[in-house]
Amino acid sequence: MKPRRAPPLPHIDPARCTGCGWCVAVCPPHVLSLLPQPDHTKTSVLHDVGGCTGCSLCETRCPFQAITMRAATPQPGPVVPGPGPSLGTTA
Ligand code: SF4
Ligand code: SF4
Repeated sequence: MKPRRAPPLPHIDPARCTGCGWCVAVCPPHVLSLLPQPDHTKTSVLHDVGGCTGCSLCETRCPFQAITMRAATPQPGPVVPGPGPSLGTTA
């Protein structure tokens, strides 16, 4: 069994994000939200990293190229012993 590879995650550039909300609207598991900023603007944030499927719909939909999908930090997987050497088939 191969260790599970974590899906890529959206990286949101706050300097490019206008807070338009399109990414929030298209995200199937609803793990993006708009966070109010001190200057009364809003910025998209990924509030549930574990719920993101890595589908990249948010990246595709963003009109301002504020989202880039990036490889997530690899998760340590369980150590699973391999099948061992093949003993061949018996008749
Ligand atoms: S679609 Fe892009 S610009 Fe609009 S809120 Fe999302 S990241 Fe920000
Ligand atoms: S990659 Fe998909 S699941 Fe993850 S935040 Fe973007 S739209 Fe939502």
